[in-house]
Parts: sequence; C-alpha cells; structure tokens
Amino acid sequence: MSIIVQKFGGTSVADSQKILAAARKAIRAQIEGNQVVMVVSAMGKNTDMLVDLAQQITEQPPAREMDMLLSTGEQVSVALMAMAIHSLGHEAISLTGAQIGIVTDSTHTKARIQSISTERMREALEAGNIVIAAGFQGVDEAFNITTLGRGGSDTTAVALAAVLDADACEIYTDVDGIYTTDPRVVPEARRAARISYDEMLELSSAGAGVMHNRAIEFAKRFSVPVHVRSSFSDTPGTMITADPEARNAAVCGAAKVKNEARVTVLGVPDRPGAALTVFSQIAAKKIPMDMIVQNVAAEGHADISFTVFRDDLPATLTAVEEATNELGAEGYSHDDDVSKISVVGLGMATQSGVAEKMFHVLAEKGINIQMISTSEIKISVLVDREHSQEALRVVHEAFQLDQEPAEAAGAVDVAAAVVETGNTAEIVARMERMEELIIEDITLDESQSLLTIAGVPDTPGLASKVFHEVAAAGIMVDMIVQSIGREGHANITFTVPQTDYEKSTAIVQRLAEELGCPPPSSSPQVAKLSVFGIGMRSHTSVAGRMFRSLAAAGINVGVISTSEVRVNVVVDGRQGEKALAALQKEFADVMV
Ligand code: ADP
Ligand code: ASP
Ligand code: MG
Repeated sequence: MSIIVQKFGGTSVADSQKILAAARKAIRAQIEGNQVVMVVSAMGKNTDMLVDLAQQITEQPPAREMDMLLSTGEQVSVALMAMAIHSLGHEAISLTGAQIGIVTDSTHTKARIQSISTERMREALEAGNIVIAAGFQGVDEAFNITTLGRGGSDTTAVALAAVLDADACEIYTDVDGIYTTDPRVVPEARRAARISYDEMLELSSAGAGVMHNRAIEFAKRFSVPVHVRSSFSDTPGTMITADPEARNAAVCGAAKVKNEARVTVLGVPDRPGAALTVFSQIAAKKIPMDMIVQNVAAEGHADISFTVFRDDLPATLTAVEEATNELGAEGYSHDDDVSKISVVGLGMATQSGVAEKMFHVLAEKGINIQMISTSEIKISVLVDREHSQEALRVVHEAFQLDQEPAEAAGAVDVAAAVVETGNTAEIVARMERMEELIIEDITLDESQSLLTIAGVPDTPGLASKVFHEVAAAGIMVDMIVQSIGREGHANITFTVPQTDYEKSTAIVQRLAEELGCPPPSSSPQVAKLSVFGIGMRSHTSVAGRMFRSLAAAGINVGVISTSEVRVNVVVDGRQGEKALAALQKEFADVMV
C-alpha cells in the first residue's frame, strides 16, 4: 500500500476548524487507499508565544529547557488532530518525537536527526490508523527532548517520508506553492510549477522561509519529491525535485534575510592558518557563517568579513574577541543593521552578465552594496536594512521573475515525480548517517585568473560600473567578492578564464586609474578548489576543516565563497594539486 506524508504548518492548524479541515484531507487520502502519516506543527503563533514567555523569565534560557518548552506546542496539536480524526469516525494515534524514535544529537534548539525508527509507525499504520507525528522534535540518547530549529516540522516531514520510503510528501501551508520571492513582500511574485532541490536549498537559506533548508537537504539526499501546496485551496502547488522549472533561466527566485549582521576582523596576520582561528572559534559555537570574504592582504595583514544571523551576533562577538586576542589582530567591527539580498538560479552558472544586471538595478536606485559574494548558482549582496525591501523588489523586477520563463518545463505529473530511491542496501547505508555531512566531490579548476581592485570608493554604482565594463568585453566572470574596506573604500576581487586575462587586466587598470584607486593586483593563474556536498553550511565545521588542512599543507587561502552546497577557495596557482590532495585527505571520512 502506498504511504503519503502530509505536513500541516502552524497556520494550517491555527484553530479547531482548521484542524478539522486538515483531518479531512488526511482521511480523504486514506479512503483513496493510502497509509497516511501526518506531521503537525504547533498551532498558529504558539511557538512564538512560548519563546516570548521564556524571554520574559530570562534573556538566556537554558537550551535544554527551551526545548522542553517548545516541544509542548506540537504536543498540543497532535493530540487535537487525533481527536479530530476520531470525531470524524476514523482511527488515529498521535506520537511525540520520542515515541516514534526520532533520535537526534544533543545540540538543543538546533538538533540534528541521527536515526528514526519506523517500527511503531508501521505497526500503527498496519492497524489502520492515521499516524500523527509531532513535528520539529526528537529525543537525544539520554532521553532529553530536543528540537530541530525554527521551521523544523518540514524537516520532520521529509525525514519521515525518506525513512518510510513514502510515495509522496505533501507540505500543506498558507501559500499555494513556492513563489519567485515571498509573495507577502512582493505581490508580483509568481508561483513556480517546479523548482530544483539545489535552487530551493539556496533560496531557503537565503531567506525564503517557506521551507526549512534542512528539509530540502533530506529531500535531495533521499530523492524525496516534495509537493508544496495550500491547505486552503486545491491549486496544484509546486513540486521540488531534481529538475528546475527552466534550465535556461539565469534566475529562478530571489530572497532576503532581513536580519543579518556583518562582522569584520581587522588586521589578521596574512599567514596560513590565521583565518582558521577565527572560523574555528565560531564553528565551535555552532554558528553558521555566511558571505565569508577575505580582503587581499595589505602589508602582511588581511581583513576578514562575514555575516551571521543577527540573533547569533552576541555569541559571535564573544568568539571573535577570543580569536582577535589569540591572533594579535588589530580589532574588529560589526554592523547589525544590514540585510542580505540573493538571487538564485541553476542557469546563471553558464550565463554572463547576471551579476552585473543585479548590481546595475541596485545602483540605479542609489542602493549601496556593502558586500558581495557569489557562488555558481547564487549571488548575494549585503545592503543596509532600510533599503532591503526596495532592493528585493527591483531585483525581482529586473529578472522578470513575475513572468513565466520562456522554456518552462511546465507542470509536473505528481505521480510521475516519484522516483526510485535506489537499492535497499544503499538506502539503509545512507539512513545510518541521516543528517551527517556528505561530501560528494572535491574539484580543482586551474583555468582561472584572479583580479583585484582595492580602494574602490564605497558608493552606489561602483560594482555595477566594474562588472558592466567586464561584461561589455564579453568576459565571463566566475567568482565575485566585494568586501568592506577601510575608510569608505571597498575591495572588489573576481576570477575570469585565463584566456581573458590580458583583456581583464587592461580593463581593471583603466578603471583603477579612472577611480583613483591604487594599482590593481592580478594573478594570471590561480587554482580554485570546490568542495561540494550536503550540509555544507549547517555543519559549521566544514570551512574550519578546509582551512585547517590547507594551513597544515602550508597553503594560504586568497578568496573564499560559500553556499549551501559548496565552499570554494582560491589558492596560488602552483599549489592546486597539493591543495586538492590535502582536502581529499581531510574529507576522506565523509566522501561518498
Ligand atoms: P508553515 O507554518 O506552514 O510552515 P511558514 O510561515 O513557515 O508556513 O511558511 C509559509 C510562508 O513563507 C508564506 O506565508 C510566505 O509568506 C513565506 N515565504 C517566503 N518566501 C516564500 C516563497 N519564495 N514562496 C512562498 N512563500 C514564501
Ligand atoms: N513550531 C515550530 C516553529 O514555529 C516548528 C514549525 O512550525 O515548523 O518553528
Ligand atoms: Mg514553516
């Protein structure tokens, strides 16, 4: 018999009528001949309310007790859901995370799933019950209740679908699918018929709160097709599978993280391993870092900037303080009034001018770009929070995201989207490492050159100007990083194919003169190493491990860029092979 997992988010179970409506959906699926597992979130804003209550008691509640508290929200809704199903004449049983056997690590408030037992769920299903699982929670080996991080019920749902080898995983929510950006913020946003795992992963970590990013990691890892749809209407929704909506579209969506904070460690000695000290202090506190940018060294010193969620700022500053002392760095600065705007699309990997277009429309609105970081399928910029709303809107408009892409693949046949998840032995092997880091590949690209213009006036339109000139010369730019510079100046670094090296140096030289910058620096041959896999950012140790192994091999890292699925570093061109060997050795234990 086929198994369906249906997840209902907070708004979908916000009151008794909605709970009854959700119950009817599950019953309908059962009558159609499926075994049904429901995953339910806390009612409405219940989790927010509990967080608020804790805050009233103390500013820093113990994480273990926080989990004890937050898990009650889901316990209320599963019980009510079971009652609703009974009242409609069907059999149901509610189960907490612990009762199911969702075992996690002990990282309270952001615990990772280690294993899930299917026995009890299967027994209950065989006995004709609709199984109602509490989302967002698990239990560690010492039976402490844990939670998976805000929005984590999505992750429970996809993880249950994976272990049960379910035929469908339906995420019922208050929007009728995945939009090109948050439709509540940009009303012109368009619903996509489909979106690929990688794009959705990048979008969710770039701020699209509609899906928990770890749910998408599970979906990708176990090939679970995820169907996002409305609780309140029968519109077809969006399928998240391996395939994008349109392969040729450079951008499929845009997103914003409203509350980011930027931290810069100043005057870090430019030697192998220095950056590592900063990253490992932060990783030890399990704080995910983003937009890591290292300024090219001036007089043997570099500035390292990165962003974190604003909520993580206090803990980050403590770590940075320690690292600064240890390194003898000059000091650090921070800004907690910034937002990150990102565009995402599989197609941008092979198209030129995408970044330039984004920078251009922001410049036209007079919005200053404080930092830039790009990866193969994502471009992120940091702007001041006041302008973030407008920035998201103009970027959405510039890429015509309100219009269906020219060669859209069209709607997905939901039944056909169910894929074979591989042989049983393979699935079991992967299950044993449910949420562990997986490195799929490490690659070396020795075909690029690196160019840097330092001391660019930090005013709107500068990045646009630089990349306009580069794009006009038909040069395909790969990585771009712009870092916060000193005294109102920024540094812009980018890579281009070696075949375009001469053309590019001529352009940056002319630009530097025109802008009154010091002479630009360039390396005709650099080595770019990419480590990609699943869990690259949520496993906060990845960047640290990369730096540690490279430092141990005596290799200095010039440029870094990170995304959900990969970390790229650029090193001296002569050290490519050596760096590759160091990384392969470092990650041998997690390579697939
Ligand atoms: P649930 O409680 O069902 O888990 P969430 O509030 O977590 O629902 O997620 C749904 C919300 O996500 C929507 O109401 C919408 O405002 C927001 N959202 C953000 N980005 C997007 C997007 N790209 N597409 C659809 N919804 C989005
Ligand atoms: N109730 C939890 C939260 O609000 C989990 C979820 O809804 O996904 O974050
Ligand atoms: Mg949610």
